[in-house]
Amino acid sequence: MEVFWHDACLGHDTGAGLWELPGRWDWLDVAEPHPENAARLRTFRHALRHGPVAPHLTWSTGRFATDEELARVHTRAYLDRLRAACARPTSVEVNTVVGPGSWDAIRAAAGTALAAWEAVAAGRTRLAYALVRPPGHHAQPDLPDGYCLVNNAALVAETARRAGRRVAVLDWDVHHGNGTQEVFRDAPDVLTVSVHMRHGPWGANHAQTGGPEESGPANVNVELSLGAGDLAYRRAFEEVALPALAEFGADCLVCASGFDGSAFDPNGRHNLTAAGYRWIGGAVAGLGLPTVLTQEGGYLRGYAALCLHALVEGLLGLELLEDPLAYVPDDAQLVDADLARARSALTGWAFAASAPAGRGRA
Ligand SMILES: [Zn+2]
Repeated sequence: MEVFWHDACLGHDTGAGLWELPGRWDWLDVAEPHPENAARLRTFRHALRHGPVAPHLTWSTGRFATDEELARVHTRAYLDRLRAACARPTSVEVNTVVGPGSWDAIRAAAGTALAAWEAVAAGRTRLAYALVRPPGHHAQPDLPDGYCLVNNAALVAETARRAGRRVAVLDWDVHHGNGTQEVFRDAPDVLTVSVHMRHGPWGANHAQTGGPEESGPANVNVELSLGAGDLAYRRAFEEVALPALAEFGADCLVCASGFDGSAFDPNGRHNLTAAGYRWIGGAVAGLGLPTVLTQEGGYLRGYAALCLHALVEGLLGLELLEDPLAYVPDDAQLVDADLARARSALTGWAFAASAPAGRGRA
């Protein structure tokens, strides 16, 4: 497996404030770093370079995306506004900030994701992980949202589509991949699947609900109740996401890979452990598809790094690191109702009309 990295991703300075909200908070003694920060990505890199999975990985340097490439999934007017905003520290959305290093980081994240795709498309590797920031899956054609500025996963998928590939995007970040859904809303030849917590719309730039009512012939939303953990994700994959990928017949895959579904993430209310992410990695590898993964969320950086390491273990069929923190109960009681809602919305899908495999339920 090849990991793609670009130092310019570290230059995006999101500042400090009250968690994700920038600025001064006079009642707060010590401002906190914005959760989407460079130390987070450095920690992820360190885990893969120095954890037990390290000997199994090769590293490649990414590149900058060109303006033409960015315009495959964003409007020129949006990109012009975004580049201009990066001239000085400013908020482009309530909790999404940019500054002088951000434009290079944006271009590096997008270009490094494309470099990962180029390696996969050339047959150099079947699995390529773009370890990049800023994340992208909330970014819409003409809107930033939720720390996301350019949609790296959508850019890879659109590039693959233009190369004649039948591509699917699978998103397990704890938040709905609303930006990717928007990019491909009118593209029946690109499947988008998102498994996420029930959080609903937020703010002026996030109108999408992420609920099953937004599912359609080429978009599948699996919205899981708060508290969902390893078992709920496994069932969401086995009973909805993986059958949808099989029925769609994708010949390559883009994964929006977030770790904010972990039991310890401040931005999520799900309960995944490292074992859950290791299982997801195994499930993705089991598809046997050429696959690019782009880094999305994951904000308790130490545990998120452990979860990344475990996901990579799963991708490689390994089991290496212990999880010393996997003690939060995994409450699976709500998953039956969640999955029934997700499947009942999929009226055009053959798999959804039949009982889930091996479970005997109508
Ligand atoms: Zn997220």
